Amino acid sequence: DRPTTRHGQPDSKLIVLAGPTAVGKGTVAGYIRDNYPDVHLSVSATTRAPRPGEVEGVSYFFVSDEEFDRMIETEQLLEWATVHNAYRYGTPRGPVEEAIAAGNSVLLEIDIQGARAVRRAMPDARLVFLLPPTWEELVRRLIGRGTEDPAEQARRLETAKLELAAQGEFDYRIVNADASEAAREVVDLMQVRPATPIS
Ligand code: 5GP
Repeated sequence: DRPTTRHGQPDSKLIVLAGPTAVGKGTVAGYIRDNYPDVHLSVSATTRAPRPGEVEGVSYFFVSDEEFDRMIETEQLLEWATVHNAYRYGTPRGPVEEAIAAGNSVLLEIDIQGARAVRRAMPDARLVFLLPPTWEELVRRLIGRGTEDPAEQARRLETAKLELAAQGEFDYRIVNADASEAAREVVDLMQVRPATPIS
């Protein structure tokens, strides 16, 4: 028998965290990276340029279009997608497979197309959809972070509507009202719960 989480599901070594723009996936994933060192957080490759404060090899591997093509051709990516009709993003396969082989849990913070691709490639993966408390709160977070211009914000919100409509495909839905609480719920899906002490 496989061990089960408190949700009664077999625990999974591979968790995919997806959800609409600005819902806080990066904040939740960062919280897990900083507080749960046993979880391997996958670092994606991307063709977009770094934003201020982003660190090569930590936030992303920032690669050229040619390099990304080469990664696809040599099957180095577990999945990849063009996100928001702009840049390409992909999950390097090697580190994920190595972490799983070593018995560690792996977290992928990727978009919904990527989540679907991982489900096909690795049926044991658990798919988590991160939800905002309300639509208004999602809009507030997107505008508040100020990293996109108004045209890009509008485009992302259109995508977000489609993504929210796909939430039923996911194994779990977690509302991100508080990032540390949401992170705990995600990690909870990976862990075998402590056994009840025998008295
Ligand atoms: P951003 O440019 O804001 O960092 O990320 C844009 C989107 O790309 C987010 O929805 C993020 O989840 C997604 N993303 C990041 N890495 C990957 C990846 O490796 N694969 C896929 N499919 N999506 C990714």
